[in-house]
Amino acid sequence: MQILCEPLGYYAPNTRLKSTSCYIIKKGEKILILDMGIGIRSKLIDYIIYNKIELNNITIVISHNHFDHIASLSSFGDFLLKYHPKGKINLYISDTSEKYYDWYKNVVKKYNSVFNIVIINEDLTFYFSDLKVSFCKTNHCEDKIKSFATKISGDNNSFVYTSDIASVDSKLKKFVKNANIVMVDAGNPIKRLKTLSGYHGITKENVYEILDSCVDNVYLTHLKACFNKTDYLDSLYRYSKEYVDIITKDTTFNIFTGKRVYSEYFKQQNVLMA
Ligand SMILES: [Zn+2]
Ligand SMILES: [Zn+2]
Repeated sequence: MQILCEPLGYYAPNTRLKSTSCYIIKKGEKILILDMGIGIRSKLIDYIIYNKIELNNITIVISHNHFDHIASLSSFGDFLLKYHPKGKINLYISDTSEKYYDWYKNVVKKYNSVFNIVIINEDLTFYFSDLKVSFCKTNHCEDKIKSFATKISGDNNSFVYTSDIASVDSKLKKFVKNANIVMVDAGNPIKRLKTLSGYHGITKENVYEILDSCVDNVYLTHLKACFNKTDYLDSLYRYSKEYVDIITKDTTFNIFTGKRVYSEYFKQQNVLMA
């Protein structure tokens, strides 16, 4: 059975009117949602209805508590309180909060009747269908808030979503080793940015460090909308295009082979928007 990644939101923050991080990992009738950034609530509900996903078959992982990775969790929580009040969805989240946005405490307080909250740490593993899910703490915000890379593995294959990172340190390098695909925060193709809440966007050298860890392919995501595919690929990776690609609109791919898959969901979205 194919295991797909369907990106509902893949833009970096401060990209006006664009949806930020949310990737659906789909295996049969089950979905694992990686992050729930700004502007994905209605897309997500649409997706669930279109694919007839039972709410019990949803698992959520939040890489870290920045608004571009978690903001839609509260509106999705409101949806669950209304339509799934007796169910409990497994929600994996870190127990830290950013100074100005206390997401973790809000979620615990308001939505603990619809979420079964599990705190992420590096010793934690769980199974999504028959796939093992594990975590590695990254250096996105030093120790200010905890941010985790997520690995999904099965049958000698693995896929890693790093979320935001400052660089590829030795720990992350080990974590991604031999992965088929690593989906990584690409941010700004011109330079790495330090914002109040941490680093966004890794450098070309960092991407090469990932590929050096026997990784087959790197998918760049968390993109700035003011740059296009050419900015990212032709200017930065023209000699390594075989190994580096970017997430683009309607890019659904098999998480272990990288093969692009035509998504029925995105097809109907385009019909609706035409
Ligand atoms: Zn962040
Ligand atoms: Zn981010």
